[in-house]
Amino acid sequence: MKLLITGGTGYIGSHTVVELLNNGDEVVIIDNLSNSKKDVIEKIKEITNKEVTFYEGDVKDKNLLEEIFKNNKIDVVIHFAGYKAVGESVEKPLMYYDNNLISTINLCEVMNKYGVKKLVFSSSATVYGMPKELPIKEDFPLSTTNPYGTTKLMIENILRDLAYSDKDWSIAILRYFNPIGAHESGLIGENPNGIPNNLMPYIVKVANKELDHLNIFGDDYDTKDGTGVRDYIHVVDLAKGHVLAAKKVFDEKGIDAYNLGTGNGYSVLEMVKKFEEVNNVKVNYVITKRREGDIAACYADTNYAFEKLGFKATKTLDDMCKDAYNFVLKNR
Ligand code: NAD
Ligand code: UDP
Repeated sequence: MKLLITGGTGYIGSHTVVELLNNGDEVVIIDNLSNSKKDVIEKIKEITNKEVTFYEGDVKDKNLLEEIFKNNKIDVVIHFAGYKAVGESVEKPLMYYDNNLISTINLCEVMNKYGVKKLVFSSSATVYGMPKELPIKEDFPLSTTNPYGTTKLMIENILRDLAYSDKDWSIAILRYFNPIGAHESGLIGENPNGIPNNLMPYIVKVANKELDHLNIFGDDYDTKDGTGVRDYIHVVDLAKGHVLAAKKVFDEKGIDAYNLGTGNGYSVLEMVKKFEEVNNVKVNYVITKRREGDIAACYADTNYAFEKLGFKATKTLDDMCKDAYNFVLKNR
């Protein structure tokens, strides 16, 4: 297969490109480098010993998309490109709606024109809003609590309308839980600019003495130890889920959504302890007040993704903690 990967130099995109190349697929990347660096292309080549075609540019740019589809016989598109910071989306909603929605609409229009109607889309567990029950199943009601999440839900709806209007489309919506960790080589991983919003990159920066301590957002939730519980999944497992989803849309028409998680929930305190134990470092923390909009617990029912895609995460929490820190140590 030849795949176009939008956002392919980003965190999840780059790991997915590695898994696709290892699987024997050909890869074309488009990324505007708004949240990643060009040297990721070299790192991907170093890990896989394979070539990729890279277009530096914006997915909103229809002329560039046309050029890509004219010059490459693409079978499947995996669409990662988009902005993803919840807090920033509250402050700059128009920027989020513009980038996430327009890029997707333009991409689908150009795909339509070139008769490429196979798409895998990066959605998020955030579309489940405040779930009433756990574990979360794909048919649970959908709602959102911030503009970022709303862009994901709006795109899911756009894609459903598109698949309904034209039965030739095949679309897999992947709802990620909490991807963490890095490639075991330490060559690619997650490297957010400034102060991280998410737990694992924050823990890593505290362990690395770039930040003084972790603020734990509340210890009075109705969970095992009072701190928030999430379903952390190793980014390499997540990447492998995309290889399976790409095969699914290549083989079968229609649209469906799948949870990509492990099905296990870990609390913030459990994460801190595990990270300390695995990496033999200290992670100082203080308990602070709850973060606005946070939910107590969120973890996936993974049965549907297993049944339909054959997806099962295999890496452990130890692997996630070890690989996340290894990436930082190698790139200090
Ligand atoms: P990332 O920011 O590392 O990667 C996204 C990439 O897209 C970046 O390289 C960025 O430069 C690029 N990009 C953004 N807008 C673009 C545009 N208009 N044109 C071209 N390139 C553009 O993020 P990630 O963590 O790899 O996430 C990938 C996708 O998965 C995103 O859609 C995100 O919303 C979704 N997602 C991520 C998480 C997570 O926790 N990381 C969870 C759920 C869903
Ligand atoms: N969290 C925390 N301190 C931080 C960042 C996150 O205590 O600096 C907690 C957060 O309240 C949640 C969990 O860690 O319970 C995971 O947060 P993250 O932002 O990584 O993921 P999300 O909340 O989007 O699932």
